[in-house]
Amino acid sequence: MLADLPQPESSTFTNAGTNSLKTTTTVTARESNPPFILDEEGKIMPTIENFYNYCAIGKLMGVKCTSCGTLTCPPRGICQNCLGTGIEWVQLKGDGVLLTYTVIHFPPTQFLSLAPYAVGIVKLEEGPNLPAMIKNINFDHLKIGISLQIDFETAAPEEWPKWPRYFFKPRT
Ligand SMILES: [Zn+2]
Repeated sequence: MLADLPQPESSTFTNAGTNSLKTTTTVTARESNPPFILDEEGKIMPTIENFYNYCAIGKLMGVKCTSCGTLTCPPRGICQNCLGTGIEWVQLKGDGVLLTYTVIHFPPTQFLSLAPYAVGIVKLEEGPNLPAMIKNINFDHLKIGISLQIDFETAAPEEWPKWPRYFFKPRT
C-alpha cells in the first residue's frame, strides 16, 4: 500500500540555490530554500516535487482549480473534475479524519526499519483524501473516524525515502 504514496521522481533533494561558497555544510530540508520548479512565468508548477518542497518548509499544499474550484491534494496539473489546467496553490490546515488504515508488518525492503507501521487514507477537512503514514499512536487506538493532524519530518541519512515527508498523528 505504501507504494501508492505519492513520490517524487527524484529522491534527491538538493539545495539548488546554494552556490559554491558553501562546501559540504549540512543543510536540513527545513532550513534550506527548496528548489521549486517554476514555469516560464515564474510560477511554482503543480508537481509532486513541488508538493514535497512545500513539505520541507512545513506546509501542506494543494491546488485549486480556477474554473470550478475543485481542490486537489497532492496536486495535479489537470483538474480531475473539469479537466481545466488553471490552478492556484492553496495551503491546507492538515486536519482530517481517518477513512481507512492498515498496519504493515511485512514491508518492502526500503521500509523494513520502520515496521510495523500504520498507513491510511486521511480525509482532509477541506475535502481531498490523502494517503499517509499514521504515527505517534498505539495501534490499539487506530480507529476509523479518529481526528488526525499533519506533521513533517526529514528522513535520517540511513533511512529511505530521502525526501521530506509528511505523516499524520492524533490531533492534540
Ligand atoms: Zn475544475
